Formats: sequence, C-alpha cells, structure tokens
Amino acid sequence: VSSLDGAVRALRSPGEAPSGPRTRVETEIFPDGSPKKIGTVYLRNGACPLACVYCALYRSAAEGPASGDEVAGQIREARRRMPDIAGVKLYNASSLFEPGSIRQTPEDLSAIAREVSDLELVVVEARSENAYRAVPLAPLLSGKLEVAIGLEAADDGLLALLNKPTTVARFRQACAILARAGILVRAFVLVQPPFVSGQAARELALRTFELAGAQGARVVSLLPVVSSHEPMERLRRAGFFAEPTLDDFFEVVAACAGRSKGAGGAVVVAETEWLDRLPACGSCRTLKIEALERLNGTGELVPPSCAAHRRVLARETLRPRDGEEVARALAG
Ligand code: SF4
Ligand SMILES: [Zn+2]
Repeated sequence: VSSLDGAVRALRSPGEAPSGPRTRVETEIFPDGSPKKIGTVYLRNGACPLACVYCALYRSAAEGPASGDEVAGQIREARRRMPDIAGVKLYNASSLFEPGSIRQTPEDLSAIAREVSDLELVVVEARSENAYRAVPLAPLLSGKLEVAIGLEAADDGLLALLNKPTTVARFRQACAILARAGILVRAFVLVQPPFVSGQAARELALRTFELAGAQGARVVSLLPVVSSHEPMERLRRAGFFAEPTLDDFFEVVAACAGRSKGAGGAVVVAETEWLDRLPACGSCRTLKIEALERLNGTGELVPPSCAAHRRVLARETLRPRDGEEVARALAG
C-alpha cells in the first residue's frame, strides 16, 4: 500500500445506506442514432477495492459482494419505477465485474442479465482491467451491451497522482477486446480533476475525449469534478483542487461536441447531476444547465446568450511533484 493510498483511505468517512435503489431517467442518443429514454439504476453492492482520491462512491457501498440474485432484485424494484425505458445503465459504484463488489459465477451474471435482456441497450460499468469479463454477458442480452470505463485523463502520471492504478494503454487494450466481441464502449472523462486547471485542464479534457473517440468509444461522458468528501477538501486547502467554472465546463463540452460532429465521432454526454455546484454567472447559470441537458437528448448544444454575463474567475491549482507530496497534503 503506497503512502498516497493510505492517506486517502485514512480520510474516508462512512455514508448513509440508501433505503432502496436510486434511479434516474434521461433521454440519450441510442446506437441507432435516435434519442430514447434510458434509466440509471444505482446498484448497492460491495465497495470498489480502489480509492481514487476524487471518488466518494464507497459511502453508499454494502458490506461484501452482492449475489446476482440480490442485484437482480434491485434492478426489478428500480424498473417498476421506470416502466417505459428503452435502455438501462447499471451503475454499481465499482465495476460490474469486480468480485469484491458482485459475485461473478455464470449463474450470478445470468440472474442480472435476465432482468435487462428485453432492453435495446444495457450499459454496465467496468475498469479497463476487468472489462474482458463483459464478453460472456453480451450473448445473454437481446439488445446491445455497452461497457462504461473511467478513462478519466489521458495522462498516466496524473492518474497515479489521483491514486487510480490504471493507464491509457490498459484502456486501449480493453477497447480492443470489447470491439472484437461486438461490445460498445462508453468512456468517462474528468473535466478538471485535481492538479490541473485553466487552459491545461481544458486541453487535457479535449485530448482525453479524442483518445476515447479514436479507440472507438460510442459515447464519451464528460464529468465536471466536484468535491464530495474530506480528501478533496484537503487538496483544495493545499491549492491542488478547484471545481471548474460552469463556463469552463460548457466550453469543454462545446469543443468536444464540435470536434465530434466534424469527425462523425462519439456521442457527447454532459454529466449534469452536479452542475449546480460549479461557480457560475448568476444570470445564465440555469440557461447553461438546460442547454447541457438538451445536448444529451438531442446531440445539439446551443449556447445561450447572456446580456449581463459575468465570467467567474477560475482558481489555478498546482501540480505536485509526486504521490508523496499529495500524501503529505492529505495528512494536513
Ligand atoms: S475505480 Fe471508479 S469506483 Fe473505484 S474508487 Fe476509482 S473512481 Fe471510484
Ligand atoms: Zn451569464
């Protein structure tokens, strides 16, 4: 265990167990190019074994791995609340193929597949390292399987500073395996993670988006990084982290959408759940958030005009030399 990993884990705090599966219904562009309703089920299962510094998903995890039957029960309950969806995202705050989170026998996977086999599109989360385990799941579905992988940032040094033990090369390998099996890929890209800001953060997000597209990702989902637990607050205090402004996030999304259009490339999705936490101009905050929500359902991003626009100044952040420096900042 590195000192960085230990420092992140030492600051983790327990969260509250949700009473039932949380759900969300959105409209997204499907593989056939048309917009349809897609539901998200936030599954509860064993925690992800990793401890990426920006991630607070462990707070809603259960003790130990869930069985396929338990996961199937959660999906059934969630789908009763989302009767008319054409696709589903099974997000489990880890990887669907992580044995510490969900049991991985063929029976367990079949139990999960049965609950979603009628849908046109099934999106599951995986890490690059175990994405190959999606291959036997695809034939159990009548619709398309899409594996969502946190590529995060096309910068191996930065991934190490974020305590995320993966690399761009592993993402490439995962994409190749999935493509050979006819499985679609969705990539998550972080917009302004800790240790980058300003122009460098915008360029990194764009570069990461293009890398994901070049590896054949059907969808690239852009996430503005916000702070949801103490490790991020420590990084903020040490000058290593600041949220992107809504203007910055909007510009990154617009640039990705613009490039994607020209190349006939990936569908751009803007993650909208935390947008109200980004510093923004009071006059156009709501209009910008609505424009981003419309992008997800239409593929078109129309920038709103704002006569009284006041650009919020973004804070610059520092890049540490190594993980030891991050660990020291976390230790306070
Ligand atoms: S791998 Fe994903 S779920 Fe696990 S800690 Fe990192 S960001 Fe969170
Ligand atoms: Zn404005």
